[in-house]
Amino acid sequence: MSLNTDSLLKRIEAKRDEVVALTQDLIRIPTINPPGDAYEACARFLGERLQRRGFAVEYVRAHGAPGDSDSHPRTNVVARHAGSGAGECVHFNSHIDVVEVGSGWTTDPFGGEVKDGKVYGRGACDMKGGLASSVIACEALLEEGIALPGALEISGTVDEESGGYGGVGHLASLGYFSKPRVHHVIIPEPLGVDRICLGHRGVWWAEVETRGRIAHGSMPFLGDSAINHMSAFIHLLETQLLPRLNQRRTAVPVEPPGARVSTLNINSIHGGHVEQRFATDAQGRPGGDLPAPVVAHSCRTVLDRRFIAEENLEAVKQEIVDMLDELKRTRPGFDYGVREIMSFVPTATPRDAPVVDATARAIARVLGREPSYIASPGTYDQKHIVRTGQLNDCIAYGPGILDLAHQPDEYVGIRELVDSAKIMALAALQLTGAMPRR
Ligand SMILES: [Zn+2]
Repeated sequence: MSLNTDSLLKRIEAKRDEVVALTQDLIRIPTINPPGDAYEACARFLGERLQRRGFAVEYVRAHGAPGDSDSHPRTNVVARHAGSGAGECVHFNSHIDVVEVGSGWTTDPFGGEVKDGKVYGRGACDMKGGLASSVIACEALLEEGIALPGALEISGTVDEESGGYGGVGHLASLGYFSKPRVHHVIIPEPLGVDRICLGHRGVWWAEVETRGRIAHGSMPFLGDSAINHMSAFIHLLETQLLPRLNQRRTAVPVEPPGARVSTLNINSIHGGHVEQRFATDAQGRPGGDLPAPVVAHSCRTVLDRRFIAEENLEAVKQEIVDMLDELKRTRPGFDYGVREIMSFVPTATPRDAPVVDATARAIARVLGREPSYIASPGTYDQKHIVRTGQLNDCIAYGPGILDLAHQPDEYVGIRELVDSAKIMALAALQLTGAMPRR
């Protein structure tokens, strides 16, 4: 069978207005997470469209997942178009949640305004634009009437911005991201129209608590301040650990290049009695919640440690524990606890993997240039696909500029929406076995 890909590409080019309209429609459903607004509406909108195009559609709610409730159900949608033969399945996975709006917008965050060749709105690039491109790519393939030996799947999943446990994590635990159902996964995150993201750095989130002894704040010498202990720990992090991490460079092409080292962020710190902002009323009396005159008996901090492929998770943890043990030996009264919140090891799909090869060839065909290969500083849903689904043939590829994600006046370029739809369609042709790998 000879395959006329020119006709396919022309068809997608003619869908310019359609991909814009779909991106706008998706932006106008305000799926803010947290708390997880309008998930059901967005999943149904997507599912009903794909059902009309001949996909078998399932809605999978993650009962009991963090944040799941009847008012905020964690509803995912999975759509599948069966193949005509024994080909492999390619799955396009997009998260439907967006982060809060924040301030500084000059356009309506949920308006989907089109201006100067761009669609604006919260989620435009991260990642409703990419979702729209993948839908248009699959619809165009079906309209062309090309026999695809393998299946096409599209999912809209929740909670990526908060770890993905009720979304891809949940679906992966049910087998939705494993062989023999699925063989190749493309996640249209906004990495750029000519860049293939092979994976991400590792992450270890942990809460460290220092402990002290409560006493009257006017006689601190009778107590033992957990805040002072924490400050000693943070001093060590800054003066000893951070310089060491900064020396550890990875050979993996993480973007931006500043993230090609190990990093640590102190996400938060909480010590002593929690008061609201101190204020005085018209009579000059303290208002709000009053501060308590006590020595802090507990102080907690959440560490966000991102590590590189050349490090291992156990050593990453041990390094922190060793510093805490050192303080316990040398600092009178020092006591601590460590609680892990989340950990994922780095992922990296090989450069010669089928999904990478198919996408690279499609980029070369559509854009006339070779792709660049990158890795992401932070994790995304690939972590669940690799760890729980045990599927390694996975990349992130999609339209949009990563730096614009989560920013005010987020946008996605219309040219990029169309080009990446073409690239996704060509990649799907190769991955499902309709077009031989040459
Ligand atoms: Zn995203």
